[in-house]
Amino acid sequence: MKVLVINCGSSSLKYQLFNMKNKSVMAKGLVERIGLEVGMLKHQPADKDKVEISENIPNHRVAVKMMLDALLDKDHGVIKDVSEIGAVGHRVVHGAEKFSGSVKITDEVMDVLKECVEIAPLHNPPNIIGIEAAKELMPDVPMVGVFDTAFHQTMPEYAYMYGLPYELYEKYSIRRYGFHGTSHRFVSIEAAKFVNKPIEQLNMLTLHLGNGSSISAVKNGKSIENSMGFTPLEGIVMGTRCGNIDPTIVAYIMQKENIPVDKINDYLNKKCGVLGISGVSSDFRDIEEAANKGNKRAKLALDVFAYQAKKIMGSYVAAMNGLDVVVFTGGIGENSITMRQSICGNMDYFGIEIDDEKNNVRGKQAEISPDNAKTKVLVIPTNEELMIALDTVSLV
Ligand code: AMP
Repeated sequence: MKVLVINCGSSSLKYQLFNMKNKSVMAKGLVERIGLEVGMLKHQPADKDKVEISENIPNHRVAVKMMLDALLDKDHGVIKDVSEIGAVGHRVVHGAEKFSGSVKITDEVMDVLKECVEIAPLHNPPNIIGIEAAKELMPDVPMVGVFDTAFHQTMPEYAYMYGLPYELYEKYSIRRYGFHGTSHRFVSIEAAKFVNKPIEQLNMLTLHLGNGSSISAVKNGKSIENSMGFTPLEGIVMGTRCGNIDPTIVAYIMQKENIPVDKINDYLNKKCGVLGISGVSSDFRDIEEAANKGNKRAKLALDVFAYQAKKIMGSYVAAMNGLDVVVFTGGIGENSITMRQSICGNMDYFGIEIDDEKNNVRGKQAEISPDNAKTKVLVIPTNEELMIALDTVSLV
């Protein structure tokens, strides 16, 4: 079966077409700047040259049409007819408490997705628009929704409740949800295979470190903690997101900096994090380069990031009462040798150690702890798209 995986953002659409016979990627691409004056499609077929088309892409329906045209094109396409696509898997950010696993998309599911918009106004609307556009253009193809929050629905009640009046949970669904679930699930399954042990017998810390970062405690294959919360703003400091702060700071800076209610979330999501601390960039490559050249604030930003990761890891070892495996994934986790060193330094109390020679690795599965270490430390590249495709196949 061929499965198309779609990930719709507010102005972008990422896609991958998988041949599930051998789990290979037949083509992948990105439609950017949807709704802006000049949009762009970048299409990469597996065995052919990359194609870029620049034109006005007024909405997501046009973006989906461009993607299909590229996949069907006689020169750079990889299929001859839309009917070759057996199913479509959609990434959906927030499934609230409604979805604890992936689901086949029906009219009832669409209604529930729309209900979830209230608590995820930034993330869910583009996902819904993408699904609607895909349904319109591929009416006969079954579709599946895969949620970032679903894997964390196994978090115990005492872990997801905030210290707020219980009525706010009942009235507005305010609780911790956790995100990046598709990635945490994928790497925890791969890590268990790597260490050749049943996942049901492992206590794992999975660190998804990228532009957005979150850490999960995966006990016996189930997520019992994730550092993100009601939204992906909570947790460890990130590229541009502040992560955990004292909540009184929010009203205080709104007053002091004259930031209105409708702009404050944008400020905390886009102007803070390691960008805000360093004043250099949100990109860890730039920050590492600046720190190496002696920029003190860049060095500080990296130290804050590593320290906050360590603190969360320690608290999750307590939550699991044990630790067997640490997994690094995401752009930073997979590629930053120095960040892995910083996070794992002085953690031998937890049996966490790194072998500098083995740690000299980027973007591929590897064990980076010394042989016979008490805790295995692994690098496992994430593949959320493949996880979505696998869920899609199993549901259709
Ligand atoms: P992601 O959101 O998972 O794509 O991760 C993006 C982040 O990974 C950016 O901050 C990049 O700077 C970082 N990253 C990618 N490659 C490297 C690298 N070789 N060294 C350090 N950071 C990297």
